[in-house]
Amino acid sequence: MLQSSTLSGVIQHALCTSLKGGTRELTAKHFSFCSATPPGIGGQEQSEITTDKAGDEDPSHTVIIDEATNEAAAVDPAEPHKIFGVAQENGVHLKFVLTTHHHWDHAGGNDKIKELIPGIKVYGGSVDNVRGCTDKLENGDRISLGDETSILSLHTPCHTLGHISYYVTGKDGEDPAVFTGDTLFIAGCGKFFEGTAEQMYQSLCVTLGSLPKPTKVYCGHEYTEKNLQFALTVEPDNEKIKQKFLWAERQVRTGLPTIPSTIEEELETNPFMRVDLPEVQEKVGCKSPVDAIREIRRLKDAWKPTK
Ligand SMILES: [Zn+2]
Repeated sequence: MLQSSTLSGVIQHALCTSLKGGTRELTAKHFSFCSATPPGIGGQEQSEITTDKAGDEDPSHTVIIDEATNEAAAVDPAEPHKIFGVAQENGVHLKFVLTTHHHWDHAGGNDKIKELIPGIKVYGGSVDNVRGCTDKLENGDRISLGDETSILSLHTPCHTLGHISYYVTGKDGEDPAVFTGDTLFIAGCGKFFEGTAEQMYQSLCVTLGSLPKPTKVYCGHEYTEKNLQFALTVEPDNEKIKQKFLWAERQVRTGLPTIPSTIEEELETNPFMRVDLPEVQEKVGCKSPVDAIREIRRLKDAWKPTK
């Protein structure tokens, strides 16, 4: 189990990783991300945070901190004791929970965190029946965190009908971030449990695809390596996918995370976000973006990784 003594190491690890990206560091002054992730991918640091949950079904855990005020928000704190420990160790005040959707591995810790932190607000989509929800969100609602951090609610339905992604901005000049739950994964997307291909196209390619390209993407699970392996079956000659697959293999082998990505990288390497391209439609025998996203999902559901 995760011990509180390892948490600061995990946080530093997360920060160092994001610094490598070459883009301006989100954590600079105003808000920062403490990721007790990624799960189930082996390696030294991950073994420290391995819990009794199975492999890559472990969700990621992230705390957004407004550094000017030390106010913080937890995204999908499915293991609330860990998040509570992170907050205590870092001297931050957890003001609210941002729930992406109602599945247990995202919303299942909400009742417990309300016990641990009386009065904490729990946000969730208005049509998603999120466990413990105190404040229902519509598309376009805004939430302030501290003095300098703003969070925009983006309705991104399909995986669940009320799924919300959270778009986070700090001061001018800082790259924003988006927390995409199980709608957008790195190089993939969530299963269409409650919605249609039309909705996933709108969520991925219109709503999330329109965000600024440097926006950092934090998703709910670390499925990157397998997703990129699948992406190569759709576009075997895509050099960017080939390069990112090799990079992801190295990251996993050495116990490092593949999260975050950026919207720009997703537009280059995520087959589900590339369905506007006629050549991608053609690869899967379709003539429209919606047909292509439906077909790529069908192919992915039937696909088995080679390792
Ligand atoms: Zn889910």
